[in-house]
Amino acid sequence: MAEAESPTEAIQTRRVTLKVVTLPEAVAVGALAQRMNVEPVQLIKQLMRLGVFASINQVIDFDTAAKATRAFGYSARKAEDGGRTASGDIEENAAHLQGRPPVVTILGHVDHGKTTLLDAIRKTNVVAGEAGGITQHIGAYQVEYDNHTITFLDTPGHEAFTAMRARGAQATDIAVLVVAADDGVMPQTVEAIDHIKAAGVPIVVAINKIDLPGADIERVKRQLSEHELVVEEWGGEVIAAPVSARQRTGIDDLLKSILVVAEVEELQANPDREAVGVVVESRMDKNRGATGTMLVQTGTLHVGDSVVIGATYGRVKALLTPLGRRVKSAGPSEPVEVLGINELPTAGDRFKVVANDRVAREIATSNLRTAESLRSKGMTLGEFRARAAGDQTKEMNLVLKTDVQGSIDAVRTALEQLASEESRVRIIHAASGSIVEGDVMLAEASEAIIIGFNTRTEPGAQRLADQDGVEIRNYEIIYRLTDDIQAALAGMLEPTIEDVTEGKLEVRAVFSVGKTRTSAGCYVLEGQMTRSSTARVLRGGTMVFEGPVASLRRFKDDVREVATGYECGVTLDGFNAFVIGDVIEAHRERRVG
Ligand code: GDP
Repeated sequence: MAEAESPTEAIQTRRVTLKVVTLPEAVAVGALAQRMNVEPVQLIKQLMRLGVFASINQVIDFDTAAKATRAFGYSARKAEDGGRTASGDIEENAAHLQGRPPVVTILGHVDHGKTTLLDAIRKTNVVAGEAGGITQHIGAYQVEYDNHTITFLDTPGHEAFTAMRARGAQATDIAVLVVAADDGVMPQTVEAIDHIKAAGVPIVVAINKIDLPGADIERVKRQLSEHELVVEEWGGEVIAAPVSARQRTGIDDLLKSILVVAEVEELQANPDREAVGVVVESRMDKNRGATGTMLVQTGTLHVGDSVVIGATYGRVKALLTPLGRRVKSAGPSEPVEVLGINELPTAGDRFKVVANDRVAREIATSNLRTAESLRSKGMTLGEFRARAAGDQTKEMNLVLKTDVQGSIDAVRTALEQLASEESRVRIIHAASGSIVEGDVMLAEASEAIIIGFNTRTEPGAQRLADQDGVEIRNYEIIYRLTDDIQAALAGMLEPTIEDVTEGKLEVRAVFSVGKTRTSAGCYVLEGQMTRSSTARVLRGGTMVFEGPVASLRRFKDDVREVATGYECGVTLDGFNAFVIGDVIEAHRERRVG
C-alpha cells in the first residue's frame, strides 16, 4: 500500500486551478451541461442543491450558472460582451468612466416644504433649451446650474426612498433634508435622517421657510447636531443652506451646495456601454400602454434597445424627457420616460439593455422565477447572516420602536451593553410609536430586525413584514429582549469550518455504466467513504476533480458507507474520466466551536 499523503497536502491541492468556462449573462441549462461535458440531469441536480429548480431548456443567469459549475470543477468567467445580470452590481471598465450628474432626493417632515422646494427648483432652473416645455410629472427632472446638470427624483419622502432601496436599487447620490425653520427637527425629520444614514448617502440640509417670522435657523442647527449632523459653521461637515421655497430665495446656494458635495463624491459612469439603471415610476397609459420612467445609471439607452426590466421586458419604442421632448438616447443620470414595455414595471426595479428581444424575454422570465423563489428577503433573528464590518466585528441591525420616548434610551443602553469584541447591535432607527410600514421598509433595505418594546404593530406593517420576510419581535420585559438578542449575537459569530478527510480510496478498476457514465471500482485504503461525502480525485498528488458522490455501491446494492479494507463502486456527479491508480478522498466540512 502506498504511503498515505498527509491531510495537509490534500488540502493544499484545493488550490489547483479549476477549469475555466466562459459563459454569457444567461445560459440554458442544457447548453451549460454540454459546455462542461456533463449530463444535463447532473447539472439539474446540482442546481436543485442550490435551491434552483430548472428544467433543461430553462435559462439561468450567470451568477446561478457560476455557482453550479464549481461543483463540476469549473470556474466561470463572464464573456466580454456579456454585460451584467439584472440583480448584480454594475461592473465598469475603469478606462471609460466619465463624470455624471448627481441624482438627488428630497426628504423631510410633512409640510416642511419638500414639494414646494422641488417646484421652486424646477421652475427656476429648467434645463437650457427646454424652457417653455410642458412639464410632465414622470418622477424625475433635471436642472442646469452653473454649467452643471443635477437630476432630482421628485417623489419626496423617505418611504419612496427606502422602498426603492428595499428593492435593491440605490438611485440617490445625495439627499436634501428639508427642515422648516419655524418648526425645527420633527419626528419624521429624525426618521429621514436615519433612513439616509442607513443608506450611506451624503446629506445637504435645506433650512426652509426662512421668510416666516418664527423662523429660527440657529435652533435648527442645534437640533441637527443632536442627531450627529454638525453644520460647517460649527466645525462639522454638513452644508446647510437657508431657503424659502415659497419665495424662491436661497435656491442658488442650495444647488451650489449640492454641486460641492457631488464633486467630493466623484460620481462617474461609462456612457459607452449598454444602459443599466432603475425604474423611478411607472404608469399605464390608455394610448401608450405601460410606460416607465427609467433613470439611466450607467451606459446610454437608445431607441430600439431591447431591455429587461425586473421580470418584464420590452423594446424601446420612444424616449421622452421630463418635458415631453422626444430624444433618441439618454445617458448616465438622465431620467427618461420609456415607451414599448410589455407590462407595468415597479418603481425600484432594475433595468438593463441586452443583446436582443429573445435574451430580454429569457432573462425576464428567469428574474420572475427568482423573484418568486426568493419569497423572503428580510432577516429573522434565527437566520441572521453574519456580516463583516470594518475590523471583523459583526453587526446586527435593529429598528427599535418603543411605547414612550423615555424607553428608547433605556432599551438602547441595555442593547449596547451586549457588545463584545466580535459582535454588537447597531440601532439604525429608534423612535416611539407603533411599528409602521416605513419601519418595515427600512428594516428590509438594511437587513434589520424590528424590535417593538411595549408597542403595537400596525396591520399594514405586519402584512408587509410577512410578505417581505422581515422579522418583528415584540417584548414587554427588557431582560427577555436582551436575552434573545444576546443569544442571536452569539449565533452570529461565524463558525469555523474545518475540512476533514474522512477516507482514502484507490481506484483499481474502471467500468462503463450506461452510455456515458463511468464507475470507479475502489478499495478503501483508510477511513471510510460515505454517500454524502464530497469526493476529490487526485492523480499524482494533483486534484483533478472535486464534486459530490453520485452513487456508492457494494456489489449491486446502494450503501450509505463503506469502511477500510472493503471494495466499492463509486460514481461522481460530473466526472467520468477515472484512471486506475487515481486516489479518491472523501471529505466533509465540520463546524468547529
Ligand atoms: P411637504 O409636505 O414637505 O411636501 O410640504 P409642502 O411643499 O406641501 O408645503 C407645506 C406648506 O408649507 C404649504 O402650504 C407651502 O405653501 C408651505 N411652504 C413651503 N415652503 C414654504 C416657505 O419657504 N415659506 C413659507 N412661508 N411657506 C412655505
